[in-house]
Amino acid sequence: MSQSYYLNLDNFEVGTLTKYWLPIVNDGIGEPIRIPMMVAKGKEPGPVVGLTAALHGNELNGIPVIQKVFQQLDLDTLKGTVVGVLTANVPGVLLGQRRFNDDVDLNWIAPGKPDGNLGQIYMHRILYGVVKRFDTFIDLHTVSFGRASSHYIFADMTDPETATLAQLQNPAIIVHSKPNLITLRGQAAHHGIKTITAELKDPYLFQDDVIEEATVGIKNVLVHLKMQPGTIRPPVEPIVLCEKSSWLFTDEGGLHTIHVNIGDFIKKGDLIAEVKSIFNESIKTYHSPNDGIVVAINTNPVGQAGSRTIHLGFGPTIMK
Ligand SMILES: [Zn+2]
Repeated sequence: MSQSYYLNLDNFEVGTLTKYWLPIVNDGIGEPIRIPMMVAKGKEPGPVVGLTAALHGNELNGIPVIQKVFQQLDLDTLKGTVVGVLTANVPGVLLGQRRFNDDVDLNWIAPGKPDGNLGQIYMHRILYGVVKRFDTFIDLHTVSFGRASSHYIFADMTDPETATLAQLQNPAIIVHSKPNLITLRGQAAHHGIKTITAELKDPYLFQDDVIEEATVGIKNVLVHLKMQPGTIRPPVEPIVLCEKSSWLFTDEGGLHTIHVNIGDFIKKGDLIAEVKSIFNESIKTYHSPNDGIVVAINTNPVGQAGSRTIHLGFGPTIMK
């Protein structure tokens, strides 16, 4: 493959860090949409670890995570290659929106199409031109607008190496989830790449605490893969593992009050949310359908019928 969007790791000098713009696809006046890349190639061979941030353009915490990981890399001792895509959805970042500039959600149209519409072609080239070069892949997200979240990981915990990757992130919560083939994680896993999705708290922000945690988590992965010397830093608090998770929704519109906090362990039947009229009269209360842990919450007080209340993790257990 000789196309411009193809990341050819043979073209990089060993022992170097390269920062450059990779053209993915031309826009409507023939100007390339370029993605900012960092490639650190070690002096000795080893695995390729890939990091992507802001595939959803309003999910920004992954950008400084990648910057810090590269800042802290020791090129002299690096074995293998680290690739960082600082903003995977450049038009979305500039528009301050989750979606691509043709209004598709890039993470729900994987693998895209070589001959589809703009977003599909873009996605196809990101997957086959860039992500397929990785052996290990961490896709850095946050929750979307109008929500607040814990630091949690989606990972297929039935795969031992993927489970290790997830644990090395030292998140508050890991949610077991089989990768869905319409997501970038799903396609990466389908191609044999060890992959997790990191949900780094909240959108539209750089949040120092989760940026530091995620940076340590990725450095842990590099130590685990013997790509960098050092010791693995364990979690400060025990990690909570969930069998699955799901958002809960209202069936009446109104002003929301959420009665639980992120990280709370709750019981079946506990009050989780109340919807009130504009005259502050209660319309309906919502109770937890199961025992679980609160992974994330809705923060927008104005909720049409069918709005989210909380993201509930089911079957939480403390990992040893
Ligand atoms: Zn996202």
